Amino acid sequence: MGRFHRHDDGTEHEHEGEHDHDHDHGHDHDHEHEGGPDHDHGHDHDHGHDHDHDHDQAPPLSTEHGDLSGYRTGPERVLVLERIFEENDRSAQVNRDLLDTAGIVGINMMSSPGAGKTSLLQHTLAGLDDPARVGIVEGDIETSIDADRLAGYGSQVALLNTSAGFGGECHLDAPMVGSALKRLDLTAMDLLFIENVGNLVCPAEFDVGAHHRVMVFAITEGEEKPLKYPVMFRSVDLVLVNKLDLLPYLDFDMDLFERNLRSINPDAAVIRVSARTGEGIDAWQSWLAERRLPSAAADGIRPAPRTMGA
Ligand code: MG
Repeated sequence: MGRFHRHDDGTEHEHEGEHDHDHDHGHDHDHEHEGGPDHDHGHDHDHGHDHDHDHDQAPPLSTEHGDLSGYRTGPERVLVLERIFEENDRSAQVNRDLLDTAGIVGINMMSSPGAGKTSLLQHTLAGLDDPARVGIVEGDIETSIDADRLAGYGSQVALLNTSAGFGGECHLDAPMVGSALKRLDLTAMDLLFIENVGNLVCPAEFDVGAHHRVMVFAITEGEEKPLKYPVMFRSVDLVLVNKLDLLPYLDFDMDLFERNLRSINPDAAVIRVSARTGEGIDAWQSWLAERRLPSAAADGIRPAPRTMGA
């Protein structure tokens, strides 16, 4: 059992003694906010506090960015999640080995709902000389609406609905993708798009066995999203900044967005696109072309080193 205590400001929490957590309470709070939006950290608790608990042993569950006291089942969740991730990672490696053997480059496409993943994929397939060499695993909680939109370009499409999960899974995991791979003819393709479920949180946490992670970010979502959803933005190799055609109608500050993105992920490539007008799609096609290995399987050439854990 942890020790329960209450701060002067009325927040309460319990200290779990066993988890190690090198949180520094002498913190001087010097992370960069320069140029950031005027977000509110809700940081009103006073670190000159006078109660005497031992911070080396028992960190409070509230940390520097506001109140985390609602997360009391943290340690139990960590144990459960560790088991889930271990199992998922094993499965993801099986998927990746399968793709490597077949000479296929796997791209995990992620975004919030409505950012334009499916529209961009339609443009992408329409612009390819060899759409028949492309496979798509289409993830959605319900419906075949997007899978239907992607049918007819000559590519193989395998639909995954996640509604059988508790309330509908918010992401694809590696076993789900593995089951979709069984429905595709892997010998006929060299490029696989895995269109994840629209969500800015969970998909970033699950390796599905792809080689690259690409995120579609729509400028209607706001410049601050990299700061609010760092796990997603940190996990990707490329950010497609979509809905560029709307720029004249929005107050979106592209420089601020890119600064925010760089503060979270300095290495991600950025391509500005519009799935509506087709602007920037050629740059995205080039990015893809550089990563495809059209004759790798046929020639018995091992694929080049790639980003892991996508
Ligand atoms: Mg979609």
